[in-house]
Amino acid sequence: MKRYQTMSRLYAPTLKEDPTEAELVSHKLLLRAGMIRKTAAGLYSYLPLCWRVIRKIEDVIRDEMEGIGAQEMLTPIVTPGELWEQSGRYAAYGPELMRLKDRHDRDFVLGPTHEETYTDLVRNELRSYKQLPVTLYHIQDKFRDELRPRFGLMRGREFIMKDAYSFSATQESLQQCYDDEKAAYARIAERCGLKALPVVADSGQIGGDTSVEFMALADAGEAELVWCDCGFAADTEAATTKVPVQDGPGHGELRRIETPGTHTIEELAELLEIDRNATVKSLCVIDAEGKPVLALVPGDHELNDCKAEHVFGSGYRMMTDDELKGYKLPKGSIGPVKLTAGIRIVCDESLKDAHSWACGANVDGYHYVGVEPDRDFTVDEWADLITVAEGDPCPKCGCGLHSARGIEISQVFQLGTKYSEAMGATFMDEDGREKPFLMGCYGIGVSRMVSAVVEQHNDERGICWPVCVAPYEVEVVAMNVNDDVVWPVAQKVTEELAAADLEVLLDDRKERPGVKFADADLIGVPYQVILGKKGVANETAEVKVRATGERFDVPFGELASWLSERVVPARA
Ligand code: ATP
Ligand code: MG
Repeated sequence: MKRYQTMSRLYAPTLKEDPTEAELVSHKLLLRAGMIRKTAAGLYSYLPLCWRVIRKIEDVIRDEMEGIGAQEMLTPIVTPGELWEQSGRYAAYGPELMRLKDRHDRDFVLGPTHEETYTDLVRNELRSYKQLPVTLYHIQDKFRDELRPRFGLMRGREFIMKDAYSFSATQESLQQCYDDEKAAYARIAERCGLKALPVVADSGQIGGDTSVEFMALADAGEAELVWCDCGFAADTEAATTKVPVQDGPGHGELRRIETPGTHTIEELAELLEIDRNATVKSLCVIDAEGKPVLALVPGDHELNDCKAEHVFGSGYRMMTDDELKGYKLPKGSIGPVKLTAGIRIVCDESLKDAHSWACGANVDGYHYVGVEPDRDFTVDEWADLITVAEGDPCPKCGCGLHSARGIEISQVFQLGTKYSEAMGATFMDEDGREKPFLMGCYGIGVSRMVSAVVEQHNDERGICWPVCVAPYEVEVVAMNVNDDVVWPVAQKVTEELAAADLEVLLDDRKERPGVKFADADLIGVPYQVILGKKGVANETAEVKVRATGERFDVPFGELASWLSERVVPARA
């Protein structure tokens, strides 16, 4: 007999009320549906229903990886610190890296990603160009001591990742591996029921040149992206575009003006009766080396944290009030002219073509207009510093960009020789020369995908799982299990559906129908088969489609085929 699950035995402690600790819909619903529980900040247990979803996502990933010839394996989570020293990331990765020591006082890390492990694995044994390319992957827990673990599975400290690493002899071969993974990632998202957009990405800690992220579109997403009708799409961390900046007032004639009570860009723009875009904003930064920097950006744009990290180093920060005082920088009136000696000035590239800047005068209650860079102060560096915003020109076609929010579910990178060179991982090429491998790496946030699916598939009553990743495909709701007529029929119907290879959950609890309906909607199994006295008398079940709310009366004799016709084609 085919198996099915009964609700009375299922470990799925559902909650009637929204848990106060959860802000995001997906976090609330996963908790309420009894799918996840918090062990500590950023550390979650996946309860049986959630684990079934995760296994389905993993099945899709495995199938797609097999399709492109990537081989599954498994490496240890615990990684010798020494390998991270060799790649140069032991110090560079910062406090996000979970470090530990063994009893012999040797350093280890809990892998946040596994470039080092895989590079080390192949460096002595993958010897010849004839063996290349090779792509290896595993699905495994990763550890990142995130500054702000939050939103349930979205940003955990321990989370499940699928990570693949490719080793190639030539750039063409790397490009092929990368394109294959990228195409597989698009299919994985789609097969798991996610609407996702590939966007140009920053390559962050991992390094390398070419990278794309897949963003599941959702207002709750932490990532900001911009896109254009021409097909361009990018993470705002990576989008570079020179924004037009208007000349300020004063026709380039340096003039100090009194601006009492004017502390913000809005107030300055209002006072001068100009657009915020025609003002210049000064931001005071302490770079990664502890040195003071003044960053200048167009008044209507924000400093981008990721770009700032590239320019000021990882660990840069804004100055404290005491530091501002120490450097004689009066809050609200700071600018590049007559600046305290020793402060480096870095200007956003968009300001290059703008003249007659309006900015602070470094005296409380005063601003300058008519400021000209190079005449009135020295620019130490021009850099890309700002977050691209809605309406800024598309770098490809010049049209206004649209903005959207997304959840980063996966990312592909061309690493080139960054790790192979640092770690001495070479192979013998056709010409008899030792060369470093050309590498790619490809990560999917498996557990984060669960949150992303819930963000895209829910309503006010609960989750609406798409069939492809649903924990069960059909839930049989027996309205009254004490009824001598209804209960045996419910069992029989369940057995028949299970025998037809459907994944069935049977609500056999002695609860009121209202409680069962509410739980069924909350847990979100795609098809509900509702059995009550009247239906049983007519040998008819009421089938409710969870996502649409449609209801159908289906005779018992047709039930298995009716459901199979809908469920089977929708499987991933
Ligand atoms: P983010 O920018 O969201 O911090 P990332 O770019 O640092 O993510 P990657 O190094 O690209 O992450 O890791 C690959 C994938 O792992 C990501 O695309 C994401 O889906 C997932 N992931 C990364 N960090 C977390 C986390 N803290 N919790 C859950 N999933 C994560
Ligand atoms: Mg990423």
